[in-house]
Amino acid sequence: MEGQLTEKKQDMEVRKAVPEVILMAITPNGEDVIERACRTCYLSFHRYDPPASTDVLIRKVIRKGHHSVLEHASATFRIKGASRVFTHEMVRHRLMSPSQESQRYVHYGSRKPFEVVLPESVAKAGFAEKYLDMSGECYRLYQEMVDAGVPKEDARYIMPGGITSEIVVTANFRELRHIFSIRCVERAHWEIRRVCLDMLRIMKKEAPIVFREFEIDEEKGVAFRVDEEGD
Ligand SMILES: Cc1cc2nc3c(=O)[nH]c(=O)nc-3n(C[C@H](O)[C@H](O)[C@H](O)COP(=O)(O)OP(=O)(O)OC[C@H]3O[C@@H](n4cnc5c(N)ncnc54)[C@H](O)[C@@H]3O)c2cc1C
Repeated sequence: MEGQLTEKKQDMEVRKAVPEVILMAITPNGEDVIERACRTCYLSFHRYDPPASTDVLIRKVIRKGHHSVLEHASATFRIKGASRVFTHEMVRHRLMSPSQESQRYVHYGSRKPFEVVLPESVAKAGFAEKYLDMSGECYRLYQEMVDAGVPKEDARYIMPGGITSEIVVTANFRELRHIFSIRCVERAHWEIRRVCLDMLRIMKKEAPIVFREFEIDEEKGVAFRVDEEGD
């Protein structure tokens, strides 16, 4: 099953490379908030007639590049079971607020099991066994060092990039659109693409007008923006 532990190897648990994305919070009636905020610019409340007016106005501001109004709504996601490699890429988004599991304070093996993401390409090339053995060696040395009194913040240096790391991220709808447009495409790294596609699927349900232009190609596992035309 997706996101669950799929294999136990000695004292180390190996998580299948499928992350779990949970929507924790979202601006209630976000698209309505965006419409009412935007109508303030033109004092055009006489045209406020949702849901039709919301659809027309939001599509129009997106086409015209008046994207700051999309900042009035935001969403918060919890992402579990993805790697530190992924989180390092994700936290590069400066307009998104992250809160991430700390390797200085979390003791792997007690507070949280040691888990690594096993990339499909590694497994397909026949390196799964070696990869897991080497990850297990890192974990065992980590434990040995912590038991000998090395602070966790220093022992963690030995941890592999594939170790899982839980993170909560909050971003407004404008920033989410930006993130999806560069992270859901083919040239993006597969793990961040997979997480962002899950986030996009959620956002397309929660805010269908704002995220309408993003089309998901499920077969290829990518999404791309089809810009709408109009005045
Ligand atoms: C395919 C791919 C490959 C990558 N490869 C590398 C790599 O090899 N090395 C590497 O270091 N990084 C790499 N990155 C990360 C990339 O350089 C960005 O750091 C990351 O994608 C964040 O994007 P951003 O700066 O557009 O967006 P955000 O930080 O999310 O900001 C959103 C937008 O706000 C505006 N903005 C934010 N901050 C500023 C600012 N200070 N000044 C002006 N405008 C601002 C910009 O318009 C920006 O697009 C890669 C990203 C992708 C998608």
